[in-house]
Amino acid sequence: MAASFSEEQLERYARNLVLPGWGVEAQQNLQDARVLVIGTGGLGSPCLFQLAAVGIGHLTLVEVDAVELSNLNRQLLHSAERLGQPKIRSAAQTLRALRPDLDLTLIEARFAKDNALDLIANCDLFVDASDNYDTRFLANDSAVEGKKRLVHGSVFRYEGQIMDIVPGKGPCLRCLYPEPPAPGTMPSGAEAGVPGFVPGVIGTLQAAEVVKLITGLGEPLVGRMIVFDSLYTWFDELKVERNPECKVCGDGPRITTVG
Ligand SMILES: [Zn+2]
Repeated sequence: MAASFSEEQLERYARNLVLPGWGVEAQQNLQDARVLVIGTGGLGSPCLFQLAAVGIGHLTLVEVDAVELSNLNRQLLHSAERLGQPKIRSAAQTLRALRPDLDLTLIEARFAKDNALDLIANCDLFVDASDNYDTRFLANDSAVEGKKRLVHGSVFRYEGQIMDIVPGKGPCLRCLYPEPPAPGTMPSGAEAGVPGFVPGVIGTLQAAEVVKLITGLGEPLVGRMIVFDSLYTWFDELKVERNPECKVCGDGPRITTVG
């Protein structure tokens, strides 16, 4: 198996390869993996950076916004000289500079009901690095419907949370929160504010979950939601059980919310 890595790749991943339990096989699994990330912003920046650096072979980016000055307190893939440019191209430029051999697919579109299942069909697993409830719940419902593993992450002010959704093995987001908050009842990211270090932590943890799910290393966050409070520097673990009455993954007749 080592034959498929060049000398350069073996050197690039040297600090991974010597890790206990990692080795060439885990690195090959990462190289063969296809991971889709929704968003290249606060969560997507650290997550994608780490996924490219760790050696994921194929990354698909889904993004539609342009780089704005107010993004730059947290969205580390972008830079002042790229203001106004499509974020997806800015992200690709940064990731290719880090990993020239990276296979990138750029989808300049919103992750929406009419394309969600098609977009995730070709990936092994996907990451929700979006910044709004609609996309978050759509990602969850698409994961269950399309039977794809999803790494959920979200941030609110000084706090963040993360959980893996593995259909058939654990609960989904709606087992915990049956419905998104009613429109207008929660402030948007722009209204609420967010310091870069919160998505920095959560996005990086999302990348760790991706690596764990792909390689089988460690214990992924299935049925466990981690909540992070940056002001107290405190992580809490919430046990989440599958709710038999969950509208998308419960035992009752399936209600299709996607498509
Ligand atoms: Zn559920």
